[in-house]
Amino acid sequence: MDLEVRAAAPAIPARPTTAASQTFADILRYPDIAERFRQVRRYFFLRESTYDMTSRCNVRCDGCYYYEGDKQNAQDNVDVEAWRKLFREEKARGITFVVLAGAEPALVPALLETCFAEIPLGAIASNGLVRIPESVGYRIHISVWGNDATSERVRKAKRMLERQMDAYAGDPRAVFVYTFTRENLAETPAVIETLAKRGCKVTFNMFSSTVGYHGPLAHTAESLAETRRIMLRMLAEFPEQILFSPYSAAAHTDTLSLHDLFSCPYPRQNAGQFGLGRSFRQYRSDLTWIREASCCVPDTDCADCRHYAAGSAIVTSRMNRHITSPDQFRGWLDYVDTYLAVWIQGYAKNPNLGTVPVAPSLALQAASAVAAQPQGEIR
Ligand code: SF4
Ligand code: SF4
Repeated sequence: MDLEVRAAAPAIPARPTTAASQTFADILRYPDIAERFRQVRRYFFLRESTYDMTSRCNVRCDGCYYYEGDKQNAQDNVDVEAWRKLFREEKARGITFVVLAGAEPALVPALLETCFAEIPLGAIASNGLVRIPESVGYRIHISVWGNDATSERVRKAKRMLERQMDAYAGDPRAVFVYTFTRENLAETPAVIETLAKRGCKVTFNMFSSTVGYHGPLAHTAESLAETRRIMLRMLAEFPEQILFSPYSAAAHTDTLSLHDLFSCPYPRQNAGQFGLGRSFRQYRSDLTWIREASCCVPDTDCADCRHYAAGSAIVTSRMNRHITSPDQFRGWLDYVDTYLAVWIQGYAKNPNLGTVPVAPSLALQAASAVAAQPQGEIR
């Protein structure tokens, strides 16, 4: 989700044009586009890395990417001063946004406070069962995988939604992240309605298989299409509570993965080491990191990656593939606006500019044209 301008973004011209084939400068003449672009470009300074704060978790979910691969075997560093030193070094090398994950970060509140004191912009990925102290002013993402019966079966935790809402309903830091699996589609509207009634903000995630996973949570073409229908319906029914956009729905439910559509810029898939591939690190709980394994969801299968955190970097970084028409660029602006509302504490979601999802494959078609352009890529 790192946003970084490699070249100066173009100035916003004054008036729209009616020409059939429009340049980026023409597109930026539309008042709604110009205003939103002005708003989101203020965040182009964001530069992200992620940190596994602990290898401990108080639940054990099927399909958890953390407990795949060897990162789970890292020896936890619990020394607050070691973490303080790391975050100071991270700040010094230009990191402005942190994602604290793990296993379960709420189990190490002193480390979260230490990080917040050094780098005050960021988000925490939590299962929401243990409340994080209010002194930690990051966005808090609370993972929801379905109703209580589903969570008990898949995550082995009782009354999970109720306990999550008791801990975080009314907390301005909290965003409930509903993960669509192949199995929980039918129960989604009831869960979203329950969250909305408690005033909770919600965004959407897609279950993305870890390497080698072929279990019942993995999506099929049919479940992807049905997920898109449900996302758009929920967005229409609960526009105040749901932080999402029609283009987000299209990009995350395409039969092609995010990597296949947009080319992932994380180091795991970016051997060229430009942009995010150069600056991003994924630290394990022993404070080591490995370039070849670094992305926001290590051990996830890139061919099935539709994860919301992955999209926040992958789609936002591909501005140049979204400038072939005003509507396509509106879709990208809505995606970035959603990303900022979900990840930045205090950023309020704007009404979406696009009401109908544009096809993500347009960005794929634009890729070869973009390759010839030297400027404007954002990471
Ligand atoms: S709560 Fe998160 S870290 Fe813990 S087992 Fe579930 S998915 Fe993994
Ligand atoms: S799993 Fe997703 S975010 Fe990670 S490298 Fe693959 S495509 Fe990129």
